[in-house]
Amino acid sequence: MYKPVIGLEVHAELKTKTKMFCDSLNDPDEKHPNINVCPICMGHPGTLPVINMAAIEKVITAGLALNCKIAEDTFFERKNYFYPDLPKGYQISQYQKPLCYEGYLNLQPTTNNSQSKKIRITRIHLEEDAGRLYHLPDKNYSLVDYNRAGVPLMELVTEPDFENGDQVKRFAEELQLIWRYLEVSDANMEKGQMRIEVNISLTNPDGSWGTKVEIKNINSVKFAADAVDYEIKRQRELLESGEKIKQETRGWDEFKKQSFSQRSKEEAHDYRYFPEPDLPPIRIANGRASPATGGPPTLFSAEKIRSEMPELPQQRRERFVRQYGLPGHDVEMFTVNKPLGDYFEHVASELLSFDRLDHLKKPDPEHQGRLLKLASNYVITELKRMADSVGADPADTKISPEMFADLVVRVFHSEVSSSGAQTVLKEMFATGFSPGQIIKEKNLEQVSNVEDLNSAVAKVITDNPKAVEDFKAGKEASIRFLVGMAMRETKGKANPQVVEGILKGMLK
Ligand SMILES: [Zn+2]
Repeated sequence: MYKPVIGLEVHAELKTKTKMFCDSLNDPDEKHPNINVCPICMGHPGTLPVINMAAIEKVITAGLALNCKIAEDTFFERKNYFYPDLPKGYQISQYQKPLCYEGYLNLQPTTNNSQSKKIRITRIHLEEDAGRLYHLPDKNYSLVDYNRAGVPLMELVTEPDFENGDQVKRFAEELQLIWRYLEVSDANMEKGQMRIEVNISLTNPDGSWGTKVEIKNINSVKFAADAVDYEIKRQRELLESGEKIKQETRGWDEFKKQSFSQRSKEEAHDYRYFPEPDLPPIRIANGRASPATGGPPTLFSAEKIRSEMPELPQQRRERFVRQYGLPGHDVEMFTVNKPLGDYFEHVASELLSFDRLDHLKKPDPEHQGRLLKLASNYVITELKRMADSVGADPADTKISPEMFADLVVRVFHSEVSSSGAQTVLKEMFATGFSPGQIIKEKNLEQVSNVEDLNSAVAKVITDNPKAVEDFKAGKEASIRFLVGMAMRETKGKANPQVVEGILKGMLK
């Protein structure tokens, strides 16, 4: 048996205002090249770097969210190598003492039967990004943009705990969510704000690890998962046919859905790491041991950062189940799409308090669950579709959560039909008017009163003797047709359930 051994290295650009060691802007959307640069990030002689404290705080936050231990004493090191995108000739990084270490992330079981799985995190450290090279086709030169040079970059390394592409996908997506919740990074892979490298090998029949292949330059989570599954299959087939795995770096061709060889393993680099002489060491009080006395001052308190940490995605999932009793699919939607979930929470708080809806009939407390589920359905389908159509956050549309809740209660009490509700929503979205006003103006009030519907139903029975006969002969489907005729008779205003009840009563 060849068992896959898979580990990840994930880089993420931090969402800070300025770069890691200077006050040049960290603006990933800057279109003009070489605008956000200064003598420090350009490595001019005689300049001195200054630590961006916000970047360190963000990495500690990320580490705490991933159950890491936080270093009490740490420092920066120089990683020396030459490349045109690295103007200093070295990268300031961390090697011996990462800011965060020995963490983990539990992948939760999902609806499609996947099991929960613990992925151990070896370390998270902080470094600076390099510039960006543009290799022009048909030209014998390349261009370089240093806007990205010196941007704070977080590197996370996992233990080789993954078994397949699905686990890689779930892990990477949860990382993205966590970092976005914490505002540590936007983690957009297409923009290069998050980069995944996969290390993958298969164990030998005796259990020892086989030759490791690295996959780089993958620009989406899905491609990372595809690349892993492809690579497991490729390596297994080679081994089974008696061939050897070459140690190499491979890329991923998303169109052919194949990995391809980029370069074979060169001899290991000697980066000549040494402590950065221009930066002071960093001290962090982390509450596990009292920091040593003397020496440099303590700059951070991990406990303080922990106490100020916002709700994490998994905490939100659990709370949404507990607080609103919603099913897994809805909870996941409101976790992944945070603005949509926040909007739902506003609607739910209206529905649960009813302070501003007291002109409407309050549903029974035992019907609360059904009411919340109805609200959830309308937010996930109708509101999301409308907000998406104009590229807006739900909260920025003209439909306030109060008015949305108002409409949901009216649908719940059959004051307006579901097709009527569509018309009302469209109008609310366009004008911001209240549902009560729109229902009145457009005459959309649903008729549920038996007396008001009796004559219309009686007319339908007289007009459709064939269908009536069929129904009496046991053809249940005919009732659908008769309900439809009654809806037409009432110009869509009748409550179809009530109509069906009257029909059945009359045809007994
Ligand atoms: Zn700069």
